[in-house]
Amino acid sequence: MIKYFMIIFLTFVLNNLILVTHLNSESKDIETITINKKVVYLTFDDGPSNNTKTIMNILKDYNIKATFFVVGYNIKNQNETILKQLIENKHYIGMHTMSHNYNFLYRQKNASNNFINEIIEEQKLIFKITGLQSTLIRPPYSDGKIFSNDYMDDIINLNIKQWDWNIDSQDWNSKTNEEVMKNISYSLSILDNRDSLVVLFHELNITVKVLPIVIEFFIQSGYEFAAYDPKNHFPLNFNNNPKI
Ligand SMILES: [Zn+2]
Repeated sequence: MIKYFMIIFLTFVLNNLILVTHLNSESKDIETITINKKVVYLTFDDGPSNNTKTIMNILKDYNIKATFFVVGYNIKNQNETILKQLIENKHYIGMHTMSHNYNFLYRQKNASNNFINEIIEEQKLIFKITGLQSTLIRPPYSDGKIFSNDYMDDIINLNIKQWDWNIDSQDWNSKTNEEVMKNISYSLSILDNRDSLVVLFHELNITVKVLPIVIEFFIQSGYEFAAYDPKNHFPLNFNNNPKI
């Protein structure tokens, strides 16, 4: 009789051990999935514009947060409310200089001073309107050549980070949704690591038209969407500088 109970007891212990081991391996799987999740950051340059509100509404329909690299002089000329709404809707506002002026920012004597002064001015302006101390820039016309060490040293000293992109929608150069989707697919095909995507858009009419299709495409491909978060910054610049 005792032997019989011992067997039942041991079977019970063993089963529960197996159960515990199984649960552990299951929670490990969940952890692995969390770490390896694929994230896409949609980014919109050159606003605020007449299309900002429509873009924001599309994002709202899908409950998606995104990043807007705004031009300082567009803020002054446009309604400031839209900028506040971006923050209320939990989007991130990055800096894209005050003027977006190629010669002033890159070609003139002391151009790098012009650049950094515009960033400081824009940072203050965004803070004044929204309360956000933005710490992210996307230099206009960024190509890995114009943005030399002079610029990067200043950026590093100000504790500011830079994001270029790894998926180019070429919306500015496209007339149809198909063209934009083709550009995105091509950008994806030449990427080694597709876990963190930063997609470049502008606030154009074609951008508004194609945006739902782009969103559906990334949902189907198993991506989550996120706005830039300084706490989760990773370097993504054409100079491959790990400090920015
Ligand atoms: Zn731009």
